[in-house]
Amino acid sequence: MQPPILYIISAASGTGKTSLIQALLREDPRLTFSISHTTRKPRDGEKDGVDYHFVSIKQFEQMIQEEAFLEYANVFGNYYGTSKQQVENHRDVILEIDWQGADRIRRSEQNRSVVSVFILPPSFTELKKRITTRNKDHPEVIQKRLETAAFEIRQANYYDYLIINDHFDMALQELRSIIQAERCKTKIQLPVWSKLMGELTREKESHEIL
Ligand code: 5GP
Repeated sequence: MQPPILYIISAASGTGKTSLIQALLREDPRLTFSISHTTRKPRDGEKDGVDYHFVSIKQFEQMIQEEAFLEYANVFGNYYGTSKQQVENHRDVILEIDWQGADRIRRSEQNRSVVSVFILPPSFTELKKRITTRNKDHPEVIQKRLETAAFEIRQANYYDYLIINDHFDMALQELRSIIQAERCKTKIQLPVWSKLMGELTREKESHEIL
């Protein structure tokens, strides 16, 4: 069996990251989505255990003490974290997390391959338009999100891949290509190659033809 890959996908809010990830998950059964824990309140339509595990600050801090998180961070004044349980026992996992979590996982992961992708807007003007018209949050929250978005975009050069989400289908195609290419890397395919080598050895012993 090939070793697992953790795909970190980050973006400034309003970049269309969630729709891209959902499309990817629908078409690729080998991918699992890591459901984060958060202390933020659910937005309209969000379901506990589906979009996030919504928990209290006390519960979250208890989990920190128990070392239950692979990474966690404070984003927009709320805690967000990836529990170790979400990534264990799965092959390829998508982590929709921010740059702080990406940084921690890149430094700490030793057993799994980590591939990080940052989704960028075509321009900051376009991002401003998307965040403002989405309008699910209060004006102060929108302002804070814009400032954070500018800061997050500055961290994007630390990622392995950058995707510009100007046209959804093209961005999805690029994301899909990254996942396919990463799965073909020699270090991921080594178990398949080793199996072939075993076959070659047996063939040589039994027929002496190779
Ligand atoms: P939102 O509240 O809009 O769902 O997410 C806010 C930000 O938190 C996004 O940038 C999202 O990627 C990030 N985020 C969500 N889950 C996690 C997590 O488990 N860890 C970290 N570090 N960031 C997360």
